[in-house]
Amino acid sequence: MNVLVLNCGSSSLKFQIVQTDLKLIALNKDQVLTKGVIERIGSRSLVTMDAGGRVFKDSLPLRNHREAVDYVLKWAVKDGTGVESITSLADINAVGHRVVHGGELFKSSVLIDSAVLQGIEDCIDLAPLHNPANLSGIRAVQEILGSGVPQVAVFDTAFHSDMPETSYLYAIPYQYYRRYRIRRYGFHGTSHRYVSYRYRQLTNTDKDKTNIITLHLGNGASACAIKSGKSFDTSMGLTPLEGMVMGTRSGDIDPAILDYLSGKEGLSLDAIDTLLNKQSGLLGISGLTNDMRELLAEERENKDRRASLAINIFVKSVRKYIGAYLAEMEHVDAVVFTGGIGENAPEIRRRVMETMKWFGISIDEKANQVCLGGKEGLISDSKSRIAVWVVPTNEELLIARDSVRLLIHE
Ligand code: ADP
Repeated sequence: MNVLVLNCGSSSLKFQIVQTDLKLIALNKDQVLTKGVIERIGSRSLVTMDAGGRVFKDSLPLRNHREAVDYVLKWAVKDGTGVESITSLADINAVGHRVVHGGELFKSSVLIDSAVLQGIEDCIDLAPLHNPANLSGIRAVQEILGSGVPQVAVFDTAFHSDMPETSYLYAIPYQYYRRYRIRRYGFHGTSHRYVSYRYRQLTNTDKDKTNIITLHLGNGASACAIKSGKSFDTSMGLTPLEGMVMGTRSGDIDPAILDYLSGKEGLSLDAIDTLLNKQSGLLGISGLTNDMRELLAEERENKDRRASLAINIFVKSVRKYIGAYLAEMEHVDAVVFTGGIGENAPEIRRRVMETMKWFGISIDEKANQVCLGGKEGLISDSKSRIAVWVVPTNEELLIARDSVRLLIHE
């Protein structure tokens, strides 16, 4: 079975075509036939496609997600792209979508029908930038492939929907939860779920015995306390702004700053929202970039003080969440790093864990240094009380597998 996996961002589209079925899932032999990304949808778009290692680049105006999906599908069935198993659109058996916000409506992945579309629309209020883009992807597929091709929605929030009330309620008057469902939803759920699943495979651990802390450190960053295989607490909140310091997001701050800053600078709430989401975090502190690779280079080569400060504040915020979750859970077997930074920056992993030696967590620096570029492995040493792992995330694979499982069950 071939599943087209779509991740539509506000001005981007990432896709994969994954060959998978229940047998391939059991053998862990599902295969990515092709993948790609289209950026800057709405202006002159940049296309990068990869078919079995052969990379193809293009630049052309694509006005919306409909045109981007159309482009992807035409490319996928074109001769000479190297996508051997797709010769016509009829070879696409299902489409799985990453949907950012499922609110309290969606607790697991679902087959998309008109009620689900309405539900995703109802959650726009909670994710005004993301859910509309996800909906345009779903509608584009409906128009191009027809309603005969089943589509599945996989929600970023779903993995966290089982969290206890003590984790998801904010300490504001309860009626605002009742009235507006203001609560912690959490994000990156598909990534935390994948990493937890892969940890179980690597360590031969039963789901109900999986007690770990997963750290998704990318441009967006979140931590998750996983207790008995389920999300018990997570750092992102009503929106992905809360939690650890991120590329351009502030993470946790005193909410009184909003009013104070608004008074001082005459900024509207909208402008402050942009400031906290787009101009803060690593970028805001360093004044240079949100890119961790560049910050590490600036620190190393130019001894840039603010690059160093940004990195250290980021590292400290990651440590704080590990500490919080160690205190919250009754037992933790492992800390697992994932995401662009978590997977590729041994220096950050070393610095994050450095202060935990007294606690009995120790890193094998040799193993740490070689775990990058998609390599998974154990990076703690044999004395460490808690194991430390690097597990590259694969949200697309879970989306493809959820699609297969739903379709076989339906
Ligand atoms: P997104 O949240 O957008 O999916 P990613 O998970 O791709 O982001 O992570 C992007 C981040 O990972 C950037 O800050 C980037 O600099 C960082 N990163 C990628 N490779 C490296 C590396 N080799 N060393 C340090 N940081 C890296």
